[in-house]
Amino acid sequence: MTDQRNHSVGFVSRIFGVFGYSRRALHLVWTTSRALTFTLAILTLISGVLPAAIAYIGLFIVDGVVAAMTSSSPDMRRVLWLVLIEAGVVISLAASQRGISVSQSLLRALLGQRVNVMILEKALTLQLANFEDSEFYDKLTQARREASSRPLSLVNRTFGLVQNAISLTSYAVLLSAFSPWAVVILVGAGLPSFFAEAKFSGDAFRLFRWRSPETRMQMYLETVIAREDGVKEVKLFQLGPRLLQRYRDIFNKLFVEDRRLALRRDSWGFVLGLLSTAAFYGAYAWIVITTMNGGITLGAMTMYLVLFRQGQTAVAASLSAISGMYEDNLYLSNLYDYLGQAVPVRKGDAKYGPEPQRGIEFKNVSFHYPASNGKALNNISLTIRPGESLALVGENGSGKTTLIKLLTRLYDPTEGCIMLDGLDLQKWDVEALRQRIGVIFQDFGRYQFSVGENIGAGDVRYIDDAERWATAAETGMAASFIEEMPDGYETQLGRWFKGGRELSGGQWQKIALSRAFMRSDADILVLDEPTAALDSASEAAIFDHFQSESHNKMTILISHRFSTVRIADQIIVIHKGEILEQGNHESLLAMNGQYAHLFKLQAKGYQ
Ligand code: ADP
Repeated sequence: MTDQRNHSVGFVSRIFGVFGYSRRALHLVWTTSRALTFTLAILTLISGVLPAAIAYIGLFIVDGVVAAMTSSSPDMRRVLWLVLIEAGVVISLAASQRGISVSQSLLRALLGQRVNVMILEKALTLQLANFEDSEFYDKLTQARREASSRPLSLVNRTFGLVQNAISLTSYAVLLSAFSPWAVVILVGAGLPSFFAEAKFSGDAFRLFRWRSPETRMQMYLETVIAREDGVKEVKLFQLGPRLLQRYRDIFNKLFVEDRRLALRRDSWGFVLGLLSTAAFYGAYAWIVITTMNGGITLGAMTMYLVLFRQGQTAVAASLSAISGMYEDNLYLSNLYDYLGQAVPVRKGDAKYGPEPQRGIEFKNVSFHYPASNGKALNNISLTIRPGESLALVGENGSGKTTLIKLLTRLYDPTEGCIMLDGLDLQKWDVEALRQRIGVIFQDFGRYQFSVGENIGAGDVRYIDDAERWATAAETGMAASFIEEMPDGYETQLGRWFKGGRELSGGQWQKIALSRAFMRSDADILVLDEPTAALDSASEAAIFDHFQSESHNKMTILISHRFSTVRIADQIIVIHKGEILEQGNHESLLAMNGQYAHLFKLQAKGYQ
């Protein structure tokens, strides 16, 4: 018994506790457009009051007609005036309702944009690690899918509720002249439906939350099946039907749950709705009997019946607005969960290090990814002085890219420290640090922008600077094929937009290289297998170029090509996150270890 009571108290407090986001949503809407919110509020007030006024005028009309029928000198003009006034009020009501709908659609557009921008702005402050975390990704997806429409819906419902509450109060004032019990019946009959609605809204929301991984899988399948980068493999490996089946299976599974909920929701809605119909007809009979007994006039009867009917609609609308607000609040909790995701505070603010001649130093650096136990890097120590180059060699998964992610502060080491110019990376201002580094990852971006922007993206300060594009493209060996394209640097790349031109893998790579070279003041260049799609002559030339251009630059190259690796001042062989061998080409060959073995293996291939 107590348990049951606790349960219901919990349910009720949960219902009301969840309305906490209403204030934030109102604030959001208010700050989005004060003028529109204000207009909406005024029009809502007007539309709240007018229906009762219409019913009240009706009373005088009917009683006027009844009086005219029994009088010897009927006052036709007065009744006709009343009809005219009622028509005027009805027109005003219609006008204010139109006004509400206009304000709502304008606000919807503004607010949708604002919330989407908020979501994207937040995304910019997040860490790479956040995006690699599937639970977080679910939050992001949920926020993006629903939350942009919910704040307005919440506000519309709040205003709708206010409007109905005003109407109801005015009906109640008029109706209580008949009997206060009529008011009690009116409100009481709607309550059961309200609690049922609130419960089902909660269930629907929980379904939505649980489902996020499945929904994301569906979205992913759509991408694989229907986007140009997936199509090749889907066709040649004949994956299509199988992927589509998986898509259908997910839908079918979700649909069963949806159907169950919809059926339960609507059967309960029907049963509880009967209750309020019964209340209405009970009150109807009561009013009719009172009239026949001469208790009230015919005009009053007409008015009470209209009031009761409209009152009931208003109660139903208010209660469904409240349960809708409950639902909106639940969805908004997602948005605010996402927006409230903690962002690590920026620690460092140094823009220069005290000893530039010391270059990059890794001191006993170890790292494991948040989601995994094993160390991706273990006790790495290395030094690159200005003007030197380092090549990293090792099989896939040995930790080479991870090392770069630490250097660029996409992740922070779990043990040890990394120094640049004699200063711990943690003390560097992240933006200043990144300004120093030009990097191309294996999975570099292929932006569906123009060639120029693809290159200019390497340094946003000069993203539109055509002269710099050309210089960078020259260094990245992309200039020759760009100049052959009809629109040169203006050519749209990729197939997503009209007139877009697709490049070969090697050409994309040259564009990405040029992008890295846009950072002309960067003195650290990181090439993470950038050249897999390039011929070996280009690879060596690019590597050489960067070295010879300035004596103070540092280069880190990850490559499986020993013809390039051998040029580096220093070569490190990484195996399972640890340094296995370290030296230059000659010394490593002389050591006759893993490097020598791999080098000879590859050299044999060329003989
Ligand atoms: P390499 O660049 O040498 O091929 P990586 O540095 O990419 O290797 O990967 C090193 C190890 O870290 C691998 O075992 C890989 O599975 C793991 N790893 C890479 N990225 C992540 C990540 N985001 N989360 C968890 N583990 C990762």
